[in-house]
Amino acid sequence: MANNLQNIKLEPDCENCAAYCCVALAFDKSNMFAYDKQAAEPCKHLDEAHSCTIHADLDEQGFKGCVRYNCFGAGQRTFHEIFEGRSWRDHPDQAQEMFDAYRVMHKVHEFLALLREVRKLKLDETQVSQVANFEAELTPLPPWTSANLIAYETCGTFEEIRAFFTGLRDRV
Ligand code: SF4
Repeated sequence: MANNLQNIKLEPDCENCAAYCCVALAFDKSNMFAYDKQAAEPCKHLDEAHSCTIHADLDEQGFKGCVRYNCFGAGQRTFHEIFEGRSWRDHPDQAQEMFDAYRVMHKVHEFLALLREVRKLKLDETQVSQVANFEAELTPLPPWTSANLIAYETCGTFEEIRAFFTGLRDRV
């Protein structure tokens, strides 16, 4: 297993995040979201302290998509590790970089969470080694920076991991 994987939290911790998911991502008016929002535009229900003003009421207010969304811990990690606690509100010049890094960190964490589940399947030796290699790639040392995260999005590894998961369909 990759060196620092055991220290990485794959569960959200909204209290320790800058609400990237409520800003960075776009959503369309649908049965999941009550209005159209562009990427990089703060949701109109987000307050100055990065809290959702309708949090207790998301379903009723038409935001089922927010209830279902899971950042797999990418939000607080991007906030603390990559941007050292700086918010997009206080550093608007870095906001787009923060949102881009968050988007890729989300993919990294989602795949790490899926690989963790895949480890519970009956895998052959080659597959176990593939899982370990993917985990190692997704948990690099030295750790992620915003630049190498953003560059990583198009390097092809996410597609390779997706293809690996597809090949495991008969094991599920
Ligand atoms: S409704 Fe609340 S949880 Fe959903 S994007 Fe807006 S601020 Fe975030």
